[in-house]
Amino acid sequence: MKKEKSEVNFFDIMSSYKCNQNCLFCSVEYQKRKMQRSTFDIKKDVLEAKKEGIKNIGFSGGEPTLRKDIFELSRFAKKEGFKLIRLQTNGILLAYDNYCNKLVDSGINYFKISIHSHIPEIHDYLTQTKGSFKQTNKAIQNLIELNQPVELNYVISKHNYKFIPQFVEYFSNKGISKFCFIYQIYCGNAYDNKRIISVKISEITPFLKEALNIIDDYDLDKGIVFNIPFCLLPKYHERCVQIFNTKVSTPEKIMQNVDLDGKEDKIKFDRCKNCKYEKKCYGVWKTYVKLFGEKEFNPIK
Ligand code: SF4
Repeated sequence: MKKEKSEVNFFDIMSSYKCNQNCLFCSVEYQKRKMQRSTFDIKKDVLEAKKEGIKNIGFSGGEPTLRKDIFELSRFAKKEGFKLIRLQTNGILLAYDNYCNKLVDSGINYFKISIHSHIPEIHDYLTQTKGSFKQTNKAIQNLIELNQPVELNYVISKHNYKFIPQFVEYFSNKGISKFCFIYQIYCGNAYDNKRIISVKISEITPFLKEALNIIDDYDLDKGIVFNIPFCLLPKYHERCVQIFNTKVSTPEKIMQNVDLDGKEDKIKFDRCKNCKYEKKCYGVWKTYVKLFGEKEFNPIK
């Protein structure tokens, strides 16, 4: 079969699956939580990305700040000439000013912070970590004071979907302009906790649309949405990211092109042939369809 092409421009290194939170919606399976990669392996990936001509690199996890070598790794990426060096983190350790400064000094120049509510009790419940809101919120404040680019990741689930607009209001008032909304994927913890956290996409979209309108009204950067197909947000289809142009290396060392390799876990339906987005759309997660069926997905003419 002929391989499809995808223009990769970002290399995301999942540095381990260890974490200092235990989010109800985490897609990592519990048994994998101890997996950690060596400094040598990660540096090899950095060099591989350079060899492929990719200019942007990121460290994610699990929680990458649990690695003692995170400063060494970002210094290495900086030395190798990467333009953008991104850290995707729950921000717990960045609540400490010194730690935050040290990360910036080491070369990280983009911070993707996972925070799932502006209401402390909801965030702490979703992360199953008491006090996590306070620390992550402090991390965001520290980064703003350091003039660092910050994007917030908000995983949408049953307990927080009604508050997405207020979340945007709260953090845009603090100076955040980049928001990324991720509909949870039902694997790992999220699959085990599906009875507690699952919610249909069509229930969340009214709140998501309201939040995207606020983002437009306030003239913030375009908010983006993951894991929701175009047909459930037709007027906002430009916000639904289906192509990531990203290569990922995981602790299992599987190198993936997420756009092409992730397709196997998704499904499209016969009626999708009549949809104007058919060519651009990669479909719906199979695990979602197993839980909620396929009735919500109808072609856009
Ligand atoms: S192709 Fe199918 S799943 Fe994708 S947007 Fe159209 S109807 Fe929805």
